Amino acid sequence: MASLIPGQATPIGAHAWRVLARNPGMMTGPGTNSYLYGKDSLTVIDPGPEDHDHLQALLHAADDLGKPITQVIVTHTHRDHSPGALALVAATGARCLGPFVPDDGLQDESWQADTLLTDGDVIDCGGVELEIIETPGHVSNHLCFLTEQGLLFTGDHLIQGSTVVIAPPSGSMGAYFASLRKLQGRGITMMAPGHGDVIEDPETALSHTLAHRQKREDKVLDCLSEKSVPVSTLVKSVYDDVPAFLHGVAEFSLLAHLIKLAEDGKAEQSEDGWRRSE
Ligand SMILES: [Zn+2]
Repeated sequence: MASLIPGQATPIGAHAWRVLARNPGMMTGPGTNSYLYGKDSLTVIDPGPEDHDHLQALLHAADDLGKPITQVIVTHTHRDHSPGALALVAATGARCLGPFVPDDGLQDESWQADTLLTDGDVIDCGGVELEIIETPGHVSNHLCFLTEQGLLFTGDHLIQGSTVVIAPPSGSMGAYFASLRKLQGRGITMMAPGHGDVIEDPETALSHTLAHRQKREDKVLDCLSEKSVPVSTLVKSVYDDVPAFLHGVAEFSLLAHLIKLAEDGKAEQSEDGWRRSE
């Protein structure tokens, strides 16, 4: 596997290169991966945060490859993935294609798609095609992109080295399970995630992630009783295998699990918190 070095264009597959942004952190791991994809021209997948150095890195990479950037597409509109589109469009005149922006206060409001992408769309990327697969869950507008060679750009649907946060209301655990199952058996040969290195065994990653989420859901149910408990208390027992400083973030995914359990008739919310549904 190639190492993750910010600013360098690293080839990851046929007509595909990765450029890591300089925004490492608790929520972004090594930083956001932008990808360049295309044969005769380039589509930038997830331009990343608004950052001058990263913009220059993308422009230099396109120069070195000798191909113009003509399209920008985004997997979703969290602020570490799409805000870089504005400056990239200003510099290149590229067209923006991608999802709508959910109104939950957590999105990059500057994102505006010239063309909205929906499930099953196939777009031309300079002589090679990308299929659009809707994968709601991490957030309701999440898209993945599949190349003809079976390389899947996963955004934050699946990332390498960590699980992803599911933050209601636009994040949904029920939808997340369904979107993971949707990718099984589709002949995906490799995954290029929004954070971390490529995932070389996609079917294993999918089944492990589904099993991990199911195990967590089972644990949530185990930790619930007839007596209502607030999420801030419940997180300590459900995530006792996770360092306490991450419990604030884990509360989002815990709430997503609880909402799914409620939808399945197994849990219910009261004034004091959550309890098992009998
Ligand atoms: Zn995200």
